[in-house]
Amino acid sequence: MNRGILVVVSGFSGAGKGTLMKRLMEKYDDYALSVSVTTRSPREGEREGREYFFRTREEFKELIAQEQLIEYARYVDNYYGTPKEYVESQLNDGKDVVLEIEIQGALEVKKKMPDTLLLFVTAPSAQELKKRLEGRGTESPELIRNRLERACEEAEGISGYDYLLVNEKLEECVDLMHGIIQSEHYRISRQQTFAENIVQELKAFVKGE
Ligand code: 5GP
Repeated sequence: MNRGILVVVSGFSGAGKGTLMKRLMEKYDDYALSVSVTTRSPREGEREGREYFFRTREEFKELIAQEQLIEYARYVDNYYGTPKEYVESQLNDGKDVVLEIEIQGALEVKKKMPDTLLLFVTAPSAQELKKRLEGRGTESPELIRNRLERACEEAEGISGYDYLLVNEKLEECVDLMHGIIQSEHYRISRQQTFAENIVQELKAFVKGE
């Protein structure tokens, strides 16, 4: 059995990544979604262990010290990190694992695990991003501004990603994402053992074995 593919999804705040991830999980049972650890406070409706594991800064530091995180990053005054154990065990079971993380963490993961698939999601326009952030109604104008500033910084890093998806219509974007991940399974480098076996068998035929 092949190891699963590690898929990293990033995108500007307001691009609709959260909804996209939720829908991807509902629609296809091919994926395991990693739940991150964060020091930020839960938003209304968020539940411990579902959207995030909510931890204090001290607890977060402890996780770093114990090397329990694959990566972590600071984002607008809070820390976010990916727990190592879940990701490793799912990948070893052949399951594709999706991380929804920001760009610094994404590039750190790619450095550590070069065969990670990096997807970047955006809304159709900057205007639409702002509208979606304001429409969320959970964040202060100052925080929205910080998030838009951060989006400007993140835009510089898009070229380090493998694919760019414009989230205009949710269902289409979900299907597109699924299609890209599935195609990735057919890459030669991910089917090395199978390819080598076939070559060996052919050689054996030619030799008349
Ligand atoms: P939010 O506060 O909106 O839930 O997330 C803020 C940002 O943190 C988003 O861009 C999200 O993708 C990112 N993020 C969530 N979990 C992680 C993580 O484990 N590591 C990193 N590097 N970023 C994360």
